[in-house]
Amino acid sequence: MKKMGSYHITVLKGDGIGPDVVTEAMGVLECVGKKYGHDFVFNEKLAGGCAYDAYGEPLPEETLEACKNSDAILLGAVGGPKWDHLPANLRPEAGALLKLRSSLGLYANLRPAIIHKALSDASPIKPEIIGDSLDILVVRELTGGIYFGERGYREGKHGEEAYDVEAYSEFEIKRIAVQAFEAAMKRNKHVTSIDKANVLESSKLWRRTVTEVAKDYPEVELDHMYVDNAAMQLVRNPKHFDVIVTSNIFGDIISDEASQITGSIGMLPSASLADGAFGMYEPIHGSAPDIAGKDMANPIATILSAAMLLKFSFGLVAESQAIEDAVTKVLDAGYRTPDIYSEGTKKIGTKEMGKRICDAINA
Ligand code: NAD
Repeated sequence: MKKMGSYHITVLKGDGIGPDVVTEAMGVLECVGKKYGHDFVFNEKLAGGCAYDAYGEPLPEETLEACKNSDAILLGAVGGPKWDHLPANLRPEAGALLKLRSSLGLYANLRPAIIHKALSDASPIKPEIIGDSLDILVVRELTGGIYFGERGYREGKHGEEAYDVEAYSEFEIKRIAVQAFEAAMKRNKHVTSIDKANVLESSKLWRRTVTEVAKDYPEVELDHMYVDNAAMQLVRNPKHFDVIVTSNIFGDIISDEASQITGSIGMLPSASLADGAFGMYEPIHGSAPDIAGKDMANPIATILSAAMLLKFSFGLVAESQAIEDAVTKVLDAGYRTPDIYSEGTKKIGTKEMGKRICDAINA
């Protein structure tokens, strides 16, 4: 078949189960490429603890350059006890992940929290609340706010005190709001903006700016919610939400809460997007050193991250959907990795899960 397009993907397998799950996602991308006539060119580089071991730094210049020169990045996970003793700037999480996000301008973090019908009993929420499925998209601002604000120690009224500043510009709020509204237009056209505008000035600007952006999207319903109420509503009435947009720190917490509602950490993908089509795609889970290399890791979160990559960075919507449909088919057929296994289903390993998803794409 004639190749329709050639796409360059930097692959960072990382540490722990990173190589296990990314290998399967690459296999699935190859299947989709073959079926639809695309050439996915993979450039594998080291990032995380493995890069520290090889080069003495978690994000070597060569890796960052390769990322900058590609169309998208597929990442497994980084970190593990072996590197926990290192100073913060050399640790895989801060030294590789945070640096990648800030160097590449990845300001929008998209985290879908989806419950597949076949896995609805995995949710810790009562069935009468959760129903048989759930689909929320959390859009978190990723390069601003308190994690990047001024910080330090000073002499206070009662001795030494520490401070961290939460600051947002209208520009930063506007661009993340646009991402959320654009996403909502492709979904159920409902955005909930989460802030603490009853207390924080930065949240007042957040609310005002999001409300302004909403005027460009008259079809999308916008509501605002204080973060404390949102944390409650997520477990009380999760079906209220379609797209959530929020700041870096609130999004950090709310997106973890949303993912726990689904009950299966090995199933959830994420995308971190820059302006334009460039993005980095990774599962939300960590490097799970306890099961690394044992053919036990669930590769679905990474495979679904590859599906997001096709949709958001390459605009290959049908191809992305083909992966999602294949995952649903395999789950409906009763195949499960150990983390999502329940009695009456068929337990399989990482590699077989990847292969079955490929087979379902080709079926
Ligand atoms: P973790 O997500 O790695 O593991 C938590 C639990 O979930 C473990 O029991 C693990 O076995 C299980 N698990 C995770 N992913 C799974 C999968 N795909 N299939 C089956 N089971 C899975 O979190 P942790 O134990 O807190 O962290 C381990 C290491 O990962 C730490 O060094 C941490 O800093 C790092 N980490 C990295 C990232 C990242 O790279 N984005 C994110 C979180 C944690």
